[in-house]
Amino acid sequence: MKADIHPKFQTINFKCACGATYVAGSTMEEDFHTEICSACHPFFTGKQKLIDSSGRVDKFVAKMKKAQAAAEKKVKKVKKNEEVDEK
Ligand SMILES: [Zn+2]
Repeated sequence: MKADIHPKFQTINFKCACGATYVAGSTMEEDFHTEICSACHPFFTGKQKLIDSSGRVDKFVAKMKKAQAAAEKKVKKVKKNEEVDEK
């Protein structure tokens, strides 16, 4: 092992937004805050829970609405053309 190049390894507290606290070894110097852990993650709890910290779900819903509206417009246009063809 080379001298003076290794970060200091110590035990720190990992705090979750749900209130759970874990003590674990790390090279970080201060307590670590996380927004999800094994006590509150849907995979471990078996409950459906929405975690959307950056608004990605909202963005996706807005995008889908826009696409749906465009598709409906296209269908209406096609139907209109079919009616014209029948005459
Ligand atoms: Zn948690």
